Amino acid sequence: MSDWVPHPRYGAKPRITGFDPDPDAPDVQLHYNVNFFTERQKADMLRYVGHVPEPRANQRHIPGTAIAADPSKQQPATLPVTHYYDIEKRCIECDRLFLFFAEEQKHWYEELGFKLDSDCVRCSPCRKIDRERKRDAQRPRT
Ligand SMILES: [Zn+2]
Repeated sequence: MSDWVPHPRYGAKPRITGFDPDPDAPDVQLHYNVNFFTERQKADMLRYVGHVPEPRANQRHIPGTAIAADPSKQQPATLPVTHYYDIEKRCIECDRLFLFFAEEQKHWYEELGFKLDSDCVRCSPCRKIDRERKRDAQRPRT
């Protein structure tokens, strides 16, 4: 069992739903952050996007955490996806493990309008620091 940097909204451990959609089912298209492609998904990616994305290093999906997506609300930089998983990642700032939650992805890709290929690379506290740094950089100096 890993220790993950807590997220103020989503918590500190994977949100188990007990749901693992069959990646081979014709109506299932997982986000490529899950890092596995069935042959059908590879063929679809090639046909519609023109390439198969490289697996992302230093991350894995947590089995049993899938939730349903709403493809009609997504900005499809890749193929629209039908499900999200909690993804374990390593923060590029502090090198700790954190979770990019399925619910968080739904929020990013369906409410905030982020494209499906935008990735979360920092844990929640480092993201907050990063946001403040960017805000300070924009503030005029007096
Ligand atoms: Zn961090």
